[in-house]
Amino acid sequence: MARLSQLGVTEHAHRAERTCLGCGARDDKDKLLRLAVTDQDQLRVDSYRGRGGYLHRDPSCHKAFVNRKGHYRAFHVEISRTAKAKLIDDLAERDWE
Ligand SMILES: [Zn+2]
Repeated sequence: MARLSQLGVTEHAHRAERTCLGCGARDDKDKLLRLAVTDQDQLRVDSYRGRGGYLHRDPSCHKAFVNRKGHYRAFHVEISRTAKAKLIDDLAERDWE
């Protein structure tokens, strides 16, 4: 008989997972940046305000995010490539641990 821990049931039961807008993978919420879109079609890293989406801190995810086209359900609006590129520029200047 398989134990629950082997099936991953106990580990995943209470974990908050979000989908990365870059690579599309689900991951622990704590490993993802929360993005928010403002009324001026600008993107920013913001944990609380606005409509949010999630993104890894990995530069390859940032690049994938910029290059993706279309409507993001997470934001409920179309995000311009300019806004995405600006956010990624801001992220690139940050020092992540
Ligand atoms: Zn990712």
